[in-house]
Amino acid sequence: MSSARLFREPIDLHTHSRVSDGTEAPAELVRAAKDAGLGTVALTDHDSTAGWAEAVAEASRVGVTFIPGMELSTRIGWSSVHLLAYLFDPENVDLLDATARIREARLHRAEQMVERIARDYDVSWDDVLAQTEPGATVGRPHIADALVARGLADDRSAAFAGILHWRAGYYQPHDAPDPLEAVRLVVAAGGVPVIAHPATRSRADIQLDEEFDALVDAGLFGLELDHRENTPEGRVRLERLVKRYGLAVTGSSDYHGAGKPNRLGENTTRPEVLEAMIARATGTTPTYA
Ligand code: AMP
Ligand code: FE
Ligand code: FE
Ligand code: ZN
Repeated sequence: MSSARLFREPIDLHTHSRVSDGTEAPAELVRAAKDAGLGTVALTDHDSTAGWAEAVAEASRVGVTFIPGMELSTRIGWSSVHLLAYLFDPENVDLLDATARIREARLHRAEQMVERIARDYDVSWDDVLAQTEPGATVGRPHIADALVARGLADDRSAAFAGILHWRAGYYQPHDAPDPLEAVRLVVAAGGVPVIAHPATRSRADIQLDEEFDALVDAGLFGLELDHRENTPEGRVRLERLVKRYGLAVTGSSDYHGAGKPNRLGENTTRPEVLEAMIARATGTTPTYA
């Protein structure tokens, strides 16, 4: 029996609100998605599901399909790898525990980075707190906002190209599970894992290639190949892996409100892919508008 799809199009599966490093509240973000002409939007804040309830309510109100998600921080050596997770059980104890630990590690790491930066620049931890929603997952973007407020950078992008760049001497990684562990956590919570922006020239890309067999065995669903930060060469390389392993390809904006130039709907995911994702998930369901 072929069933009509319940979700709307176009589909954008990667956005951030103030629950992490976006600049809009979850409800504002959902309204922005509606205004941008999207039919389906996923909220994928870093290491937190705290925005889901507000986003669901607004999505129902304005008539957008809502896909609950999260972008999980993972780590290989000094490099960070982001894992998108969709439709998992938000009450899963192991995942809750892992995300709580990541948020704690991020907080600690941000404090240490600011301590180092403060030796050379007039900026304090209070400046960062002033830019951060209580309870939000803290990251370099909040430090960037503090630097901008202090007149030490023109905008987030400038802060990332300067003081916050890993080569500037203040950078520090934070503890996080490795990608394989993260894929297992997401799958065990009934969710569907997709590697975010997998070809951005980061040092982790190459290391990840060597883990593909294990990642796919553990239940990796797809790769976010349609993302503005993937390089053309990287995409070509990963398209081979997609074919070899039968992986899905997603496309998304990675919208951060005013925090990044990425615009809602600038990349989208094909409906067949979302359909397969929903069929695979056992943790929770979309909210159909
Ligand atoms: P962190 O995980 O704390 O190291 O910070 C990385 C986050 O900063 C990513 O999630 C991006 O959303 C954001 N980011 C990275 N580069 C830039 C940039 N050039 N401008 C604005 N935000 C950025
Ligand atoms: Fe981000
Ligand atoms: Fe990311
Ligand atoms: Zn993201």
